[in-house]
Amino acid sequence: MFEVKLSPRSMTELASVIPPVRVYRLVEDVAPEMRSRLSGHEIVNINSTASGGGVAEMLHVLLPLCIGVGVPAPWFVIEAEPEFFMTTKRLHNRIHGNRGDTGPLNDVELGVMRGVAEREAPELIEELQVGDVVILHDPQPAGLAKILHAEGYPIIWRCHVGVDFDNEYTKQAWDFLRPLLEGYVDEYVFTRGSYAPDWIPREQLRIIKPAIDPLAPKNQELSDDDILGALTVSGIIAGPQVSDPGFKRSDGTRSTFDMVADIVRQGPPPGPEVPIVVQVSRWDPLKDMAGVMRGFVEHVVPHTDAHLMLVGPSVTSVSDDPEGEQILRDITAEWRNLPAEVSSRVHLVSLPMDDPEQNGALVNAIQRHAAVVAQKSLAEGFGLTVTEAMFKSKPVVASAVGGIIDQIVDGESGVLVHDPRDLAEFGRAVTRLLNDEELAERIGAAAKQRVIDYFLPDSSLDQWNEVVVTAMSRNRLNTGERSEVGLQ
Ligand code: UDP
Repeated sequence: MFEVKLSPRSMTELASVIPPVRVYRLVEDVAPEMRSRLSGHEIVNINSTASGGGVAEMLHVLLPLCIGVGVPAPWFVIEAEPEFFMTTKRLHNRIHGNRGDTGPLNDVELGVMRGVAEREAPELIEELQVGDVVILHDPQPAGLAKILHAEGYPIIWRCHVGVDFDNEYTKQAWDFLRPLLEGYVDEYVFTRGSYAPDWIPREQLRIIKPAIDPLAPKNQELSDDDILGALTVSGIIAGPQVSDPGFKRSDGTRSTFDMVADIVRQGPPPGPEVPIVVQVSRWDPLKDMAGVMRGFVEHVVPHTDAHLMLVGPSVTSVSDDPEGEQILRDITAEWRNLPAEVSSRVHLVSLPMDDPEQNGALVNAIQRHAAVVAQKSLAEGFGLTVTEAMFKSKPVVASAVGGIIDQIVDGESGVLVHDPRDLAEFGRAVTRLLNDEELAERIGAAAKQRVIDYFLPDSSLDQWNEVVVTAMSRNRLNTGERSEVGLQ
């Protein structure tokens, strides 16, 4: 286990993007209430990776803001061996209704989850004080619920994943998780109500949508020079020489871009004038990078001059995602079989994660440079990459699955692909946006406004306040009940 170092972030800075009245309410009403309820106790967050993927992204957004308004919110990452992450990835796939690998989810795997929790718990408990509230994120740390509940801590389980339907795989996943959580969790938080299994009592269920930090390196404004410079230095495009292209770090200092991407391509990088279609994702089967490539090759290449960039984190860098390497290898093999005139228009880009802020800023530059952003996921808990692209006024073509449906109003603030496996529907939408600049601009402007209205962090912090307060009182009630029973 290790702690992720976080610096406080001032909410008032966000008033340049979030309407000031919303910021004021948070700073003057919500934060003081939270501080007084917690009376010095901490909201302790636990997950299984410090970078790469939506959960880490969200924690990097919300926790510094919490700390900035005087609410201590430390973040610990549990560590485990590959066998554990094979199990949790299997679980992740099945929660999304897919089998993933062929392995089982039985007592042995439960033992693996419990074993890691038992091993990590003592070190964690050393960091906790009586009265702290614990938020466990996603299935990986679920084994800790029982142990920490027995120690008397209020427990919140925040599940970032899910699908709107049930099948044999979702049932396997939820049957597996149930004994780890049921009876030990005070409040459950999901991204959509339909994701929660039936056995979760509805009075303990809350829905919170994720949010992005509009000023983080991932989303901050970048000048055209900084964008072109970043993409040129990294080798992603062949752009002009720009002196010292840079971005602003969270601590306020300016850094020069020097990150070099690892790119599978054939031929020279595209020039700055070439329209680019981008999908940024982990190399995960449910993101369907291969499907994006096929859809682009079959249905976009014949009608446009655009190039496609599939962008993901370097495959050795996301500690809780063991499938990345294989997925990138498979898609590279498929790419090699494309005719040369087509493969030269598809670029497979892996970004180093050793400097997460610069990685974020480079993702930012890529999204801002894109003519169209795709997110053709087969399943998606929420889809922060969609929010990020919408905030940058980009027209997004994304599957009508999971949390993406909550973000995009079809035809207004993006285009939904109703059947994520329908490559022709996907290709038609991308082609239309590439060829109709006015439409792309109108959709992009509406997309940005939608993110400002619904997916910035002030509203989620407000909701988190309620969840934490309820978890504390429920826990107090339960603890009271437990000790009364003990007295009888
Ligand atoms: N991401 C990143 N670098 C990469 C690829 C992805 O920072 O090379 C980020 C991406 O910008 C987004 C997050 O990882 O913030 C992915 O979150 P999302 O909700 O889209 O999907 P998840 O990975 O949680 O399934």
